Amino acid sequence: MNSADCSSHSATARLLHFGSPGAIYLRRFVGSLHVGRCGSNPTHVKTLRLRSNPPKTITVTEAEVAASAKIIDGKMVAKEIRDEITTEVSRMKDAIGVVPGLAVMLIGERKDSATYVRNKKKACESVGINSFEVRLPEDSAETEVLKFISDFNDDPAVHGILVQLPLPKHMNEQNILNAVSIEKDVDGFHPLNIGRLAMRGREPSFVPCTPKGCIELLHRYGFQIKGKKAVVIGRSNIVGMPAALLLQREDATVTIVHSRTQNPEQIVKEADIVISAVGQPDMVRGTWLKPGAVVIDVGINPVEDATCPRGYRLVGDVCYEEARKVVSAITPVPGGVGPMTIAMLLSNTLSSAKRIHNFQ
Ligand code: NAP
Repeated sequence: MNSADCSSHSATARLLHFGSPGAIYLRRFVGSLHVGRCGSNPTHVKTLRLRSNPPKTITVTEAEVAASAKIIDGKMVAKEIRDEITTEVSRMKDAIGVVPGLAVMLIGERKDSATYVRNKKKACESVGINSFEVRLPEDSAETEVLKFISDFNDDPAVHGILVQLPLPKHMNEQNILNAVSIEKDVDGFHPLNIGRLAMRGREPSFVPCTPKGCIELLHRYGFQIKGKKAVVIGRSNIVGMPAALLLQREDATVTIVHSRTQNPEQIVKEADIVISAVGQPDMVRGTWLKPGAVVIDVGINPVEDATCPRGYRLVGDVCYEEARKVVSAITPVPGGVGPMTIAMLLSNTLSSAKRIHNFQ
C-alpha cells in the first residue's frame, strides 16, 4: 500500500485501538524531511544530502521533494520548550529552594494509560520536576481516589495534579476532576478553568495541554491567528472545544465541525487555520483544504501496516501526503502535536509552582 493512498485507510485498513499490544513506532526526523517511514512504496526516488553534522544521505520520493508545505516540527519546538523549562526549574531551585512537583494518578491496568504516565514521569525527570505517582487497581473505590486527591491538594511539595483518563467505568469522572484544586489543575479540565477560558475578561489558571500546544506551535512558527478563519474539527472537552475557545481568544473567527455537521469539506475549505481532533485516520482529504492553509493535526490513529515493524503505524486525521501539496504548513503525525502536549504539562506545572511561591 502506498502511504499517499489515503482512501485505502478509511475503506479497508483497520483502525487499531491504543490498547493494542506493542509500543508506538516513531518515524525519525532529519531536518524538515522525514525518513524511515514504513508503509511508503516509493516508485520514483531521489537521494538528498543533508547539511547535518556528520552529513547524511537520505532517499525521498519525488512527491516529497515537490511538496511545498512547511513541516511544523512539534518535536523540535517541544525540545526548545523543555530546555527553557529546565533552565527555569533550576533558577527557581537556586533562588528559593523550591522544586516544582507533579502528582500523577493511574487507576486501572490500561497499557496505553500506563505508557502515557511513564512518559510523563520521564519528561518530569528530564527537566528536573519532581514526580509523585499513585497507582490504584481497577476495582478501587472512588472515595480512595478522592482521598489521594485531597492529600495532594494539601501537599506543598505538589504543584500539579493529573488524573490519567479514562477512569474505570464505575467511577464518576466529574466528581474526580472537580475534586482537584483549581490551583493545581495542570490538565486544565476543572469546569472553573474551562469556564474562565470561555469568558471574556477572565483568566483560567491553566489551559488544557493539547490545545495549548496547538496554539503554541502557531505562535512559535509566527502564523497570524488574529482575523483569520479557523475551523476546529472535533468538539471534545479535552481538545476540540478548548482549542476553539483558545482560537477565539486570539481573535480568529471560529467554526466547529463535528460528527453531525453537514458538508464538512465545504466548511473546512474556507479555513485559513485547521485544527483537527477527530480520531478518524486520514479523514480530511487534500481537496477539503484551502490552498495555503495552516493545518494542525491532533489525531493519532494507529492503522494496520504489515510493512511496519510493529504491524501498524500512526496516521493523523488529515491525509498528510495530499495535504502537504495544498497547504502552506502542516504538523506531521507523529512528531507534531504529541510532543507538545507533554511539554505544555511541564510548562503548566512550572507556572503553578511559580504562582504558588510568587516567584517571577
Ligand atoms: P473524542 O473525544 O472521541 O472526540 C472526537 C470528536 O470528533 C467529537 O467531537 C466527534 O463529534 C468528532 N467526530 C467524530 N467523527 C467525526 C466525523 N466523521 N466528522 C466530524 N467530526 C467527527 O476524541 P479526542 O479525545 O478529542 O481525540 C481526538 C483525536 O486526537 C484522537 O485521535 C486522539 O488520539 C488524539 N489526541 C491526541 C493528543 C495529542 O497529544 N496529540 C491528545 C489528545 C487526543 P461528536 O461530538 O459529534 O461526537
